[in-house]
Amino acid sequence: MTAPLRSFLAEVVSAGTLLPEPERARWAVNGAIPSAVLMPSSEEEVGRILARASQEGWGVLPAGFGRWLAGGGGANVELVISTRRLRDVQEYEPADLTFTAGAGISLSSLAEATGANGQWLPLDPPGGEEGSLGAAVATGMGGPLGQWYGPPRDHVLGLTMVSGDGEVLRWGGRVVKNVAGFDVTRLCIGSWGALGVITSVSGRLFPLPEVDVTLILEGHQRFSLLPHARALALSSLPLAALELLDPLDWKEGGSRSPAGLVVRLLGSREEVEAMETRVPREAGDAGVFKRLEGEESRAFHGRLGRWEEGAGLVLRMVALPSLLGAVLRLVEDSQAQWKRFPAQEGLDVRVAAHVGAGVVRVAVWGISLEGDGLRGGWVEALSGLREVLEGMGGSLVLSSGPAPLVREVGTWGGRRVEKTLMQGLKRQFDPQGILAPGRFAG
Ligand SMILES: Cc1cc2nc3c(=O)[nH]c(=O)nc-3n(C[C@H](O)[C@H](O)[C@H](O)COP(=O)(O)OP(=O)(O)OC[C@H]3O[C@@H](n4cnc5c(N)ncnc54)[C@H](O)[C@@H]3O)c2cc1C
Repeated sequence: MTAPLRSFLAEVVSAGTLLPEPERARWAVNGAIPSAVLMPSSEEEVGRILARASQEGWGVLPAGFGRWLAGGGGANVELVISTRRLRDVQEYEPADLTFTAGAGISLSSLAEATGANGQWLPLDPPGGEEGSLGAAVATGMGGPLGQWYGPPRDHVLGLTMVSGDGEVLRWGGRVVKNVAGFDVTRLCIGSWGALGVITSVSGRLFPLPEVDVTLILEGHQRFSLLPHARALALSSLPLAALELLDPLDWKEGGSRSPAGLVVRLLGSREEVEAMETRVPREAGDAGVFKRLEGEESRAFHGRLGRWEEGAGLVLRMVALPSLLGAVLRLVEDSQAQWKRFPAQEGLDVRVAAHVGAGVVRVAVWGISLEGDGLRGGWVEALSGLREVLEGMGGSLVLSSGPAPLVREVGTWGGRRVEKTLMQGLKRQFDPQGILAPGRFAG
């Protein structure tokens, strides 16, 4: 730790803000423990810390609870600023179905606060409900519920963000139509901490559904379920989620379970019953669906939220929904290729697709970079896969993976012109370039 940082921590940062030394290791970013983890109690305090960090050129990583700090890559982090103490529900208007809450509130605490009035925020990002609201917005990451409710950007009405040089900026508001001009709020959604620390979020809520039913169709493998998945995605049914999983039961171990098509139905009793009778028909003579209701259904989706927990490599492949078959074929070919790399005997590849959104998540267990695995195999394979996807108009994100591999391949791809635009934006919000170092760096 440098002398200026030590004196800043001693003189400026209050005891409650500085995380005790022994707990710091859990906040390592790509294997490197930051010099300090700060948990400010107000956005003004966030501003003071960032203004000083900007002057000194200290690298800062914004965070919620620190459960996914390696995602997004990056390096050289001196300070982590966690929003964990900014967790109040600041405003809640049940009659307007709107709220404003600190970015550090967990999605489960928010659900508790709004559930008392029969309302919810239908966001189910990977990692489950224990993640922070701010992180869901900063990563722009939704989950299966995006099929019907849309991604996080559709739920956010406004936010407060502290820029790299410490200015507190507010955009949007609590009303559903609130933009007259350029919508800066949306720019911040998915900015991965590179533009500022999001300190509070205003969002819109939905009435809690009366009934929660999940129907599961088992199939020999993912390709045999694809026609049914397509038929359902193109039907007029308002499905809350439509997921293709291979294998269906990822915790089973031993012999591999079959693939599954998971259909979630939410709504009033009458609505769900009407949908339920239509699903097998609309899916095209799809055979027998298993049925889960209420707590069983919720528990299934809770487990699905933590689906990639412990995987060594997580990829997010995106293309037009009509290209889902082609993307799944690419995964199949890649799997066969990866297994031929040296020391990959224990490789286990699992796939979960958000059918309607054209997103295919691939989680890989047992990846090894031993021998020439990094240079001779994985880097070329993943770079090649990204090139093919980008050629199809899609993208490949390395959501997490071994640090040397992520460094070589890069978390995001994208064209030069997009990267230049993002870097220009970053300079406006973070003139000294201290935030989320290495992310969107080109
Ligand atoms: C098992 C598991 C699997 C996951 N899989 C994925 C995945 O595949 N893809 C994916 O994108 N995410 C994934 N996540 C992350 C998840 O979507 C949520 O972002 C995370 O769970 C939120 O938890 P957190 O508060 O600990 O976020 P953190 O880990 O603290 O932060 C997550 C990211 O958001 C940024 N961030 C957090 N808060 C703010 C803020 N207030 N302002 C600005 N930036 C901020 C951080 O810099 C970091 O990059 C996974 C999480 C878990 C636990």
